[in-house]
Amino acid sequence: MADATIDLLKAHFRQLRLPTMGKEFEKLARDAAAANQTFAQFLLRLTELELATRASNAVTMRIKNAAFPVLKDFDTFDFSAMPQLSKPKILELARCEWIEQKYNCCLVGSSGTGKTHIASGLGQAACRAGLRVRFFTAAELVSRLEKEQKQYTLDRFLSQLDRVHLLICDELGYMTMSRGGVELLFRVFADRYERGSILITSNLPFSDWVQIFQGERMTAALLDRLCHRCHIFEMNGESYRFRESMKAKKSRKAE
Ligand code: ADP
Ligand code: MG
Repeated sequence: MADATIDLLKAHFRQLRLPTMGKEFEKLARDAAAANQTFAQFLLRLTELELATRASNAVTMRIKNAAFPVLKDFDTFDFSAMPQLSKPKILELARCEWIEQKYNCCLVGSSGTGKTHIASGLGQAACRAGLRVRFFTAAELVSRLEKEQKQYTLDRFLSQLDRVHLLICDELGYMTMSRGGVELLFRVFADRYERGSILITSNLPFSDWVQIFQGERMTAALLDRLCHRCHIFEMNGESYRFRESMKAKKSRKAE
């Protein structure tokens, strides 16, 4: 093809916002000619490439917007270390139907047992399935809510949260909250009831959530909504971190 034609084509692809096609058409055209492909086959390959790049960029963007603290996934999770956690059940949740059905998920158990790891795996699975996810620790979420309220931008922030398909609230129960903070968090959770999924991780069993929500009435109202349609996993046992460091110590001693 003449240089001027190629330059024009590149400019048109740019204008049409088809960057991958602009980058790849020369190479694909050469490949197509070498393989005796028809023009339609060449065009199909070119458009497939653009669509695949777009889909992959969209997943990367959704994962970035979710703000996961770590990008741990199921490939590095050792299910044999947590036998009470059903691997098939977790992998079923990774198919994300529960999010489409507006179910919730609670991971409850002691520290270091992999709750954040599983939450981030489920969150990334949702991003790959085309869903919008936002990860907060409970402390971050409450302080953000308080800040937005002070700046009179709470409604705008709440409507941003509304657009998210899965809200992850990690480490509920680790810190005490002000009365105002509790009320704001309650409002977020209650607002999502049957409209959007929440994934909560907590070191406290439900029976101790009165401490978090400071009062029986609010706790009962919240648990009632949260647990109505909810997958609950207990993850208790020895801390994985602790176990790994003990193993490392033992093997150093044995050397
Ligand atoms: P929690 O949120 O329950 O306190 P984390 O998910 O932060 O625990 O886990 C603590 C550390 O141990 C993380 O680095 C995590 O990746 C790792 N971990 C925990 N459980 C497992 C497991 N079963 N297999 C592999 N890594 C694990
Ligand atoms: Mg954690």
